[in-house]
Amino acid sequence: MTEAIERPAGDAPPEWEYASAPESTDVMRLDDRYGLFIGGEFVEPKSGRWFPTISPSTEETLAEVADADAADVARAVDAARDAAPAWQGLAPSERAKHIFRIARQVQERARELAVLETMNGGKPIKESRDVDVPLAAAHFFYYAGWADKLEYAFPGRGSPKPVGVAGQIIPWNFPLLMAAWKLAPALATGNTAVLKPAETTPLTALLLAQIMQEAELPPGVVNIVTGAGETGAALVDSPVDKIAFTGSTAVGKAIRRATAGSGTRLTLELGGKAANIVFEDAPLDQAVEGVINGIFFNQGHVCCAGSRLLVQEPVFDVLLGKLKERLQTLRVGDPLDKNTDIGAINSKAQLEKIEELVTSGVDEGAEIYQPECDLPERGFWFRPTLFTGVSQSHRIAREEIFGPVLSILTFRTPDEAIEKANNTPYGLSAGIWTEKGSRILHMAQRLRAGVVWANTFNRFDPASPFGGYKESGFGREGGLHGLEPYLTFERVSS
Ligand code: NAP
Ligand code: MG
Repeated sequence: MTEAIERPAGDAPPEWEYASAPESTDVMRLDDRYGLFIGGEFVEPKSGRWFPTISPSTEETLAEVADADAADVARAVDAARDAAPAWQGLAPSERAKHIFRIARQVQERARELAVLETMNGGKPIKESRDVDVPLAAAHFFYYAGWADKLEYAFPGRGSPKPVGVAGQIIPWNFPLLMAAWKLAPALATGNTAVLKPAETTPLTALLLAQIMQEAELPPGVVNIVTGAGETGAALVDSPVDKIAFTGSTAVGKAIRRATAGSGTRLTLELGGKAANIVFEDAPLDQAVEGVINGIFFNQGHVCCAGSRLLVQEPVFDVLLGKLKERLQTLRVGDPLDKNTDIGAINSKAQLEKIEELVTSGVDEGAEIYQPECDLPERGFWFRPTLFTGVSQSHRIAREEIFGPVLSILTFRTPDEAIEKANNTPYGLSAGIWTEKGSRILHMAQRLRAGVVWANTFNRFDPASPFGGYKESGFGREGGLHGLEPYLTFERVSS
């Protein structure tokens, strides 16, 4: 049965090439056009405008999507307002059933969602399949469980009541997952919502709208308005009770100014420039995997990406050698191929932003390393990139690149690592790699970051709160903390 394997002559090791393993797109049936999801139905935009949404790996148009103007947004907010009394009046256990149905339906249609997420956003199918979609389902399951237990969630605070209508604005890096992070806690707490997906990645949110219909969510409880930044701005200006925003610090600041004094509640989940700190006693091979995952997961389009690597001097050379070796094995290309590690950059604009910052790194004197690899001709691509010789004043050490680019710095003592790690306007996440438990605790207490991972990175769980300090925003999503921004507490006086 077995045939002898022919070995290459001489001492040269055999070359093992990956065969291509594309995920089939047959599972997807895309409409030519998608309207706005308002009052439980897909409707034509009053604006009369539509825009194409593309695949960043092929630049092909996937569908046309409605471009909502202020009148469309007002209609969606009205629908959410009208739906609020009945939704709030529903028994909490009934609300939970709807959310559980959504969670199960996300699982049921997981393959379709993963393929669509990869087509519209450019991320590798193995990530959308194994991370984005399962975590989105997990969020709905988790918050469905809280819907009928809110009375017990915040002891001594009084009786929890929904705030009303939530306006929710999300970015393009985790389109479905961010929709789940926003919608699941809002629904569990009895709020209704208007969600604005990012301009470049509207399609999975619209598929989620179909899932909401299948889950028989009462019309108007969730409304989805697609469009660009102006659509988001119109939502911020509309009479909602709360704005939940995830995106850039610049837009977050503008939203904070716009909502100041209005009584609209606000949570902001913004950018980051996380330090991933490797001590000399760290298990280095494990650390290499964590560093690679920390910055190259989702092409580095991750707010909590470990984009600054801080290495203790004695292990710098050996770690750098291992990182360079590992970089050569990363497979860049077709995101629908199951072997792909790094997919397409989400948009031309994002690619230009990455290129601009990388050029600044070279110009400011840092040393660049990129492995050789072929890039597809069409689409938006960027090679995995390392910078050494980075000083803290370089733009690549200070600004969020939001791409597959790692800036490497060194340190000698734990105090120096803390000082360098905290020397940033951001404060979203950090990583620590060391064998010593006491050092992990010492560092975690001193790092100004909302999430600190130890000997791992990019771990998420719906039960665990996520959010930042300083210019990374305020408010937490996930866990018990994630319920709070959607509730008011009526004090019962005795
Ligand atoms: P962005 O430009 O701020 O966009 C985020 C969302 O806001 C999009 O839906 C966007 O619409 C909309 N928007 C743009 N201008 C607006 C305005 N004036 N008023 C209201 N909404 C507006 O950010 P991005 O470039 O898409 O996303 C990347 C950023 O998000 C990064 O800085 C990253 O760190 C951050 N992020 C943070 C987290 C977190 O949890 N902390 C998670 C993911 C991403 P358009 O798409 O049409 O521009
Ligand atoms: Mg934008």
